[in-house]
Amino acid sequence: MEYYKQYKSNHYKIRARMKYIISTIILLLFFIFTAMSKISERPQKKIKYSIVIHGGAGGIRKGRLTEQQEKDYKNTLTLALKTGEEFLKQDSSAVFVVQEVIKILEDSPLFNAGKGAVFNNLGFNEMDASIMNGSNLNCGALAGITNLKNPIEGAKIVMEKSKHVFLYGDRGQEFCIKNGATYADSSYFFTEKRHKQYLRAIKRDKVELDHGEIEDGSNEIKKFGTVGCVVLDSKGNLAAGTSTGGLTNKKFGRIGDSPIIGAGTYADNKTCAVSCTGRGEYFIRGTIARDISALMEYKNYSLKKAGIKTIEKLNSIDGRGGFIAVDKKGNYIMLFNTKGMYRGISNSEGFFCVEMYGE
Ligand code: ASP
Repeated sequence: MEYYKQYKSNHYKIRARMKYIISTIILLLFFIFTAMSKISERPQKKIKYSIVIHGGAGGIRKGRLTEQQEKDYKNTLTLALKTGEEFLKQDSSAVFVVQEVIKILEDSPLFNAGKGAVFNNLGFNEMDASIMNGSNLNCGALAGITNLKNPIEGAKIVMEKSKHVFLYGDRGQEFCIKNGATYADSSYFFTEKRHKQYLRAIKRDKVELDHGEIEDGSNEIKKFGTVGCVVLDSKGNLAAGTSTGGLTNKKFGRIGDSPIIGAGTYADNKTCAVSCTGRGEYFIRGTIARDISALMEYKNYSLKKAGIKTIEKLNSIDGRGGFIAVDKKGNYIMLFNTKGMYRGISNSEGFFCVEMYGE
C-alpha cells in the first residue's frame, strides 16, 4: 500500500513535470515560430510614394543626340520628377501630381505634347490626353483638341466636372475652358522643329511618330513621342495620365491610344497605374494598359511578370513602343521594345534615376 502511495505520488510528480516540460516546449516553439514568421513577413522598407514618367519611346540611341540635347532632356525629366516628389512629400493626391508633372512635360518643346505637339496633315496641332484615378476608376479624356495649353488639365476637368469620360474636338475644349482650363492660341504650339518634321512627312506622304529612326530595310521612319506619368501617393492611391500630339501628318481626325482608357492609360488601386507610348493603333488593338492590370488582377501576376507578358503581346502583334507602370507597393516597370525611351523614377526611399537609352 505504502509502495502504491509512493508510486502514485511519484507518478503525479512525473506527470506534473512532464506537463510542465511539454507546456514550456510548446510555449518556446510558439515564441520561436512567431519570431520567425515576423522575420519572414517583415516587409521590405515600405515605399511611401513613387513617381514614374516617360517622354516617349523610339529610336533614341547614343550618338543621335548632341550633348546639349541630352542635357536638355535629362534636365526636363529631372525637373518633372523633382516637382512631383515635392508635391508627394506634402501628401498631394496621385491625380494632382500626375497633372502637375505632365504639365511640365507639356510646357517643354522637347516632347510631343502641349507646346511641342506635332502637326497634323492640315498643318495644325490636334492633341489627345487622358487621366485616371485608381481609387475609384474615375477617368477623363480628350481627343482632337487644338487650343488647350495643357491638355492633361482638360482631361482632369472632364473627369472631375463632367458626367462623362471622353470628350472630343471644339465642344470638348469649350467645356474645359468654361471650367477653368487655360486657352492657348494656335501660334503657341508652333515650333520650328515640329514644322520641319511636318513638311518632311508631307513630302514623303508618311504618317510619322516622334523621335525618329530608320530601323529596317523598308526605309520607314519609326518615331514615337508622347508624355506620361504614373504615381503612387502617400495614401496608397494610384493614378496615371498620358498626353500627346499624336502622329506627324495624321489624317482624317485620327485618334491614337493616349486618350483611350485601357489602351494608353489605366489605373486601379487593386493593381497598378500604367501609361503607354508608341504607335497607338497597336496599343488600342492590344488593350495594352488594361492588360497589365488584368494580368495582375485575374492571374495574380506581379507587376514585373505582367509587364513582360504584355511586351511579348505587343511584339506578337508587331507593335512598337513602351510603357511605364507602378503598383500599390511602389514596385515599378519601364519597359520598351524600341531602342530607347525617355524615362525616370523617383521614390520615397531616395531612389532616383533618369534614363533614355536601352541596354
Ligand atoms: N501613342 C501616341 C499615338 O499613337 C504616339 C506616341 O506615343 O508618340 O498617338
